[in-house]
Amino acid sequence: MSQQIMPAIEGWFTIGEEPALVGQRCTKCGTIVFPPVATFCTNPSCSSREFSSVPLSRTGTVWSCTDAHYQPPPPFIPTTDPFEPFAIAAVELEAERLVVLGQVATGFGPGDLKVGSSVELVLEPLEVRDDTQYVVWKWRPTSEASGS
Ligand SMILES: [Zn+2]
Repeated sequence: MSQQIMPAIEGWFTIGEEPALVGQRCTKCGTIVFPPVATFCTNPSCSSREFSSVPLSRTGTVWSCTDAHYQPPPPFIPTTDPFEPFAIAAVELEAERLVVLGQVATGFGPGDLKVGSSVELVLEPLEVRDDTQYVVWKWRPTSEASGS
């Protein structure tokens, strides 16, 4: 019995060997937006409403990291009941310099991440429904960053 793997949020990231977040790039000024739900360019001096989809950097550096002691609002889907605290990192993407929030990969806590340390995007299962495994992106410290 094989499970199909699907992104928990359609269109926000790709799945496969090298998963990546999907952003919107303004076709006029090149501004990159994530999550890809913008209806107009976020650049105040640009009025474009045209975007193309682009894969974003799979690596970045930790900008901030915290423990979530309260369950975030939807679309967060709790994987434990009762809710267990987990670590959240705000990561500045390598090339785009965009800050993207994500949970820290299973097995890592805020103590494993320092501001400025490197992380990479990984996918982890969120829930299983109707033989489909839904996955979300998480930030995992890269090997160079460990060993402290
Ligand atoms: Zn623009």
